[in-house]
Amino acid sequence: MLTQEIEKLVKLQELDTEIKTYQEIIDNFPGRKKQLAQSVESALEDTNFIKKEHKKLQVEKKERELEIQAIEEEIKKLQKRMDEVKTNKEYNSLLSEIETLKGKKTGIEDMLLSLMEKDEEINKQLAGHSVKSEEYKKDTALKIQEEEKNIEEMQGRLKEKSAEREKLASEINKDLYKIYEKIRKGKKDGIAICKLEGESCSRCSVFVPTYIAEKVKRKKEIVNCENCSRILY
Ligand SMILES: [Zn+2]
Repeated sequence: MLTQEIEKLVKLQELDTEIKTYQEIIDNFPGRKKQLAQSVESALEDTNFIKKEHKKLQVEKKERELEIQAIEEEIKKLQKRMDEVKTNKEYNSLLSEIETLKGKKTGIEDMLLSLMEKDEEINKQLAGHSVKSEEYKKDTALKIQEEEKNIEEMQGRLKEKSAEREKLASEINKDLYKIYEKIRKGKKDGIAICKLEGESCSRCSVFVPTYIAEKVKRKKEIVNCENCSRILY
């Protein structure tokens, strides 16, 4: 009789483990979905950040270009004035002013050049990122869709397994079932019954004294692991 009861408990344990797995996946899904949505968001944010950098760079480039233009105009004016100078001193002063402006212009042109190089780099980055983040967005949407389908299926299976479990539980000796449930609910892994493997409990790996192991093998009574209190079989 006990052998049969233990067989039922083992089957019940199998069902409970399966149910627990399904339940956990189902329960974790909203969090997982949120995480995936957030990862898409942050990928898009990356692209937006690069876009902003790109814009800033355009503004900066335009400013430098205007500065160069202004300097060029200034130089032209000074050159015109040179035609009208009357003294050598005035001439030299204008010449040195022009030289200073030319030097300033060269400096700004160098800056503009490095901005253009940076711009090219950012353009490349932006192209790569936009494509990648769009692809990622699409892939993730598909992934979520697929997982939602899986979850739906899992909910169906969970329902089936729960019904099966309920039926089986009703066929088990009430006291034995109570013991099983008490242990199961007290365990994080939800395992209430486990195999005696060699000379130890297969769940907690602690050595089972020979006289207890003998009791397990005789199957005349319910035997618990002395360490983790799970039912041994
Ligand atoms: Zn144990």
